[in-house]
Amino acid sequence: MSVSELEHSGQAGRLAVAGRRGPRVAGERAEPDLAAAERAVADLLLALGKDPDSEHLADTPRRVASSYAELLRPREFELTTFGNDEGYDELVVARDIPVQSLCEHHLLPFRGVAHIGYLPGERILGLSKLARVIELFARDLQVQERLTKQVADWLQQRLAPNGVGVVIEAEHLCMSLRGVRAQGALTVTSALHGALREDAASREEFFALTLRHTR
Ligand SMILES: [Zn+2]
Repeated sequence: MSVSELEHSGQAGRLAVAGRRGPRVAGERAEPDLAAAERAVADLLLALGKDPDSEHLADTPRRVASSYAELLRPREFELTTFGNDEGYDELVVARDIPVQSLCEHHLLPFRGVAHIGYLPGERILGLSKLARVIELFARDLQVQERLTKQVADWLQQRLAPNGVGVVIEAEHLCMSLRGVRAQGALTVTSALHGALREDAASREEFFALTLRHTR
């Protein structure tokens, strides 16, 4: 049973609570047609006035197609959660989790860091999984706002914490290499749920812990 089927049947929460090992999580994406992508890259090179048959570019369409296929496909991972047996009810924050994604407007990378905090409910999450949750949504054509919200929504649904917050700070190559050429400009986005959204003190604590190290 896939994760989305679990969601539709409303069993995801129950399964996560049942044991330490959660369901395997994989992005549900159409398989890329690599041959078609290669032809399209060769066409693009040609359209840009380059000769795709020249010695140096001969293998470029294949490399570009496989690079994009890789960047658009998250790795599977197992959602491991643990019972919050000690009743830990303070904020858990993981800072500076690497983020790299592709802007859907220019197909250029944006990269930076994410800070994720949550107030545990009945389950806590293996911390290494936070990086995988980021990757699950980052390996896609994205805008930073949606990526931030998807990660927060996902954690809220899967982990049912008392609150969750996600901050992403990223540099967009479409902004720094072209257009305004704003080198080093960071875009900061955030998404909050539960107590981190509703309760001013919790929200303040979350932002104090996450934004303290902003460059
Ligand atoms: Zn862009």
